[in-house]
Amino acid sequence: MDVAVCLFSSDLRLHDQPVLRAALRSATRVVPLFVVDPGVADAGFMVPNRAAFLADALADLDAGLRERGGRLVIRTGDVVTETCRVAAETGAGQVHLAAGVSGYALRRERRLRAELAAAGRTLVVHDAVITALPPAAVLPSGTGRDHFAVFTPYFRRWRAEGVRPVLSAPRSVPVPEGVRSQELPSADVLCPGGKPSPGLPVGGERAGRRRFAAWQRSGMADYQDRQDDLPADATSRLSPYLHFGCLSPAELVHKAAGRPDAGAAAFVRQLAWRDFHHQVLAARPGAAHTDYRTRHDHWRHDEDEVRAWMEGRTGFPVVDAGMRQLLHEGWLHNRARMLVASFLTKTLYVDWRVGARHFLDLLVDGDLANNQLNWQWMAGTGTDTRPHRVLNPLAQARRFDPQGDYVRRWVPELSGLAGPAVHRPWRLTGAERAAYDYPDPVVDLADGLARFRRARGLE
Ligand code: FAD
Repeated sequence: MDVAVCLFSSDLRLHDQPVLRAALRSATRVVPLFVVDPGVADAGFMVPNRAAFLADALADLDAGLRERGGRLVIRTGDVVTETCRVAAETGAGQVHLAAGVSGYALRRERRLRAELAAAGRTLVVHDAVITALPPAAVLPSGTGRDHFAVFTPYFRRWRAEGVRPVLSAPRSVPVPEGVRSQELPSADVLCPGGKPSPGLPVGGERAGRRRFAAWQRSGMADYQDRQDDLPADATSRLSPYLHFGCLSPAELVHKAAGRPDAGAAAFVRQLAWRDFHHQVLAARPGAAHTDYRTRHDHWRHDEDEVRAWMEGRTGFPVVDAGMRQLLHEGWLHNRARMLVASFLTKTLYVDWRVGARHFLDLLVDGDLANNQLNWQWMAGTGTDTRPHRVLNPLAQARRFDPQGDYVRRWVPELSGLAGPAVHRPWRLTGAERAAYDYPDPVVDLADGLARFRRARGLE
């Protein structure tokens, strides 16, 4: 066969890229295609921060393809219609695509398969591109169940299964002559009028590989000991590169698994968490929007409280620090994600979907599987085996920001408060308290806890 289409989705890379490699094996020329689908924006998934990262990633992919004699072909429109059009224009016999897990990805795959088949063409879907292991490769044996609902047994099986070998980047990518392409989209084209957060990372495979190499050299070894340390900021920050597929999770697993240190093992475990949530969503696409396990919650919604949470003005400095970091960087440390999510869903008893939507509006790594299922985990409607635990923000602050440095970094109006006193500004009295332009707590923690326990029928 002479021409194949490599339809890029959440796999914007050239290294360890099974979709592109398979397309190159199947044909003498390949059309590397990315379709800007306005449907994604209409569904609320193209937000300024991810649009900025995606624009970088597409430009970087195009540059990498050009170094190999090719280029990225850009089209705009419904992804199925446009892909079929490109296949027809170039006479491609096959379209290659990475398997997705969301309802959207599965519908796209079905439609594309059917429409290509009607024109005598074939869709070839590749596993283990977006995740390290394909969801269907790790199933509970002998139970008839279609996914694991608990992480620890999943991880045991995941580790035993092992990831596929890593593929090198292709040396050349011959593209057929004369294929029409639009310009590479800017962030503003992808998300018109959007204002990205000021502290966003640079997107793309090269930036991702540089970050991974640097972190491997100087961060991974201590990861196990420091991953929860809020001021140290000692995690990899690779999540946006993984979300857009600028980095291959299988390659990262291989590189880390080859190291003897406990930090590398802890990092591999986190990558398995990513696969875990993807296999839950693959089996239960509805869990993106409905409770995975209902607790029959009758959530509250106090607009002022929700707004205070979103703006980082709850009066709990460690919660506010997290929410302000999210606004500024479009990214948040995992420990901070956990404690702000627990605060919203348990202490304020607000529907997890409200928080998940806000995160998806801002996170540069905003990812349906990881975001919705981590929110459900924190709300106790997901796969957590201790669904009613409540993270007390003061206890979290004491453990993970003992000297208050994280809070002073993100809540500058409290920077005059030294040491752990910054976590309890309400203890200040009179003129001292008045000197700080910082709100009083929106809730009494004991009242919030009691309300949550009553709502869940625990007392
Ligand atoms: P590291 O600690 O360096 O971990 C390495 C990689 O492992 C991460 O890049 C990520 O891909 C994966 N990983 C780590 N922790 C988790 C986890 N708990 N679940 C799934 N994968 C994990 N992650 C996202 O990628 N997108 C999201 O939209 C997202 N939303 C979240 C919402 C909430 C409420 C919570 C509690 C967590 C969420 N996470 C999400 C998971 C996690 O917080 C981030 O992946 C992590 O903070 C990213 O930082 P890092 O790359 O430095 O992670």
